[in-house]
Amino acid sequence: MTDPVRADKAHCWHPFTPQEAWCDPAHEPLMIVRAEGVWLWDSEGRKYLDGNSSIWTNIHGHCRPEIAEAIAKQSTTLDHSSYLGLSHPLASELAEKLVSFFPPNTLERVFFSDNGSTSIEVALKMSLQSRMQTGQQKRSRFLAFNNAYHGDTLGAASLGGVKRFFSRFRNLGFETELLSSMASLSNVNPTTVTAVVIEPLIQGVNEMRPWPEGMLRELREWTSNHGIHLILDEVMTGFGRTGTMFACQRENVIPDFLCLAKGLTGGTIPLAATLTTHSIYETFLGGAENAFYYGHSYTANPIGCAAALASFKIFETDKVLESMPAKIAYLAASLEKLRSKRDDIIDIRQCGLIAGVEFKKNLGGEITLAARNQGLLSRNILDTVVLMPPLCVSPEEIDFMVAALAEA
Ligand SMILES: *Cc1c(COP(=O)(O)O)cnc(C)c1O
Repeated sequence: MTDPVRADKAHCWHPFTPQEAWCDPAHEPLMIVRAEGVWLWDSEGRKYLDGNSSIWTNIHGHCRPEIAEAIAKQSTTLDHSSYLGLSHPLASELAEKLVSFFPPNTLERVFFSDNGSTSIEVALKMSLQSRMQTGQQKRSRFLAFNNAYHGDTLGAASLGGVKRFFSRFRNLGFETELLSSMASLSNVNPTTVTAVVIEPLIQGVNEMRPWPEGMLRELREWTSNHGIHLILDEVMTGFGRTGTMFACQRENVIPDFLCLAKGLTGGTIPLAATLTTHSIYETFLGGAENAFYYGHSYTANPIGCAAALASFKIFETDKVLESMPAKIAYLAASLEKLRSKRDDIIDIRQCGLIAGVEFKKNLGGEITLAARNQGLLSRNILDTVVLMPPLCVSPEEIDFMVAALAEA
């Protein structure tokens, strides 16, 4: 191979990226070549704290030996086989593990797919098809929230509330009404709605904006009262990020669909799961015409399942959830100190180990780039710099991260 940067600029196309600026000769993209714990190294040997958990995926730090070993072992035992017409034990074990976080007879069925968008796509199609199979065809619309982000496949994108990403394709997907708040539910005709979709506790792409406490509970009550499905998009909030294994547990809410991806394998291999209830599942019984005709070639990939099971083991051996309250409080205190020192910070928002530091207008990009030179890699969403380290982050590493931002 020639120079990797040259090959990148000649042949690669990056997500969410204005390619002309990327390929400009003056732009030197970072080539990440190695990772360990919360640290990433570039091709020049420079070291960075992964302040964005590699786009919100990493949970226990990079290259954890337990996950690497599980992946290696599975790669030489059963790398892949079809989940269509066949099964394998790791998928069974993982499904059992996932439902074990919820009371019996609630979320008890697991449908595997590959990423966050497909986990949402699955829930949307299941919700709609279950209506068709129970004589409720008129329930054909979805409700989602302004500035929501649920993924980029066409169905998931039709729920997206971020105009600059989704307005082009808005008319091609599912019929969706966007809500500005809980109060706007009173203007909705609930009889034509099949499901409400929400990122529980905190909206990620919407500059890390937490919902008011109790809102999820309220939404659960409203949807239950109107016979509407509640789809929770925990693609970002799942796997301990907010302090509990799943965000919905913070408000004792059990949805009709729970969508999981990003952190499911600890941030190593693409794998997703959509959990649902028996009452949804049973509407798909009764013969071939009622089956859910949906799937992907790599559905329930055994290597991904092995990584996910290894990640759950680390939650136990490292007592990860038990360690969270102290880390969350430490991050909050560090950010409070940062706020008191700077007058260019407009707001600091935090939910668990997810934080967004909002700077004055048009400073976000510049500060994120400057933070790189201080050894902190993250991304800004407009003027909000995301601080979302892996859950294994130590107090010293939190100090490093916040000091790097302050310096930037
Ligand atoms: C990342 C994300 C998605 C999409 O997941 P992909 O794996 O990127 O398709 C959906 N919803 C939320 C809340 C996310 O953060």
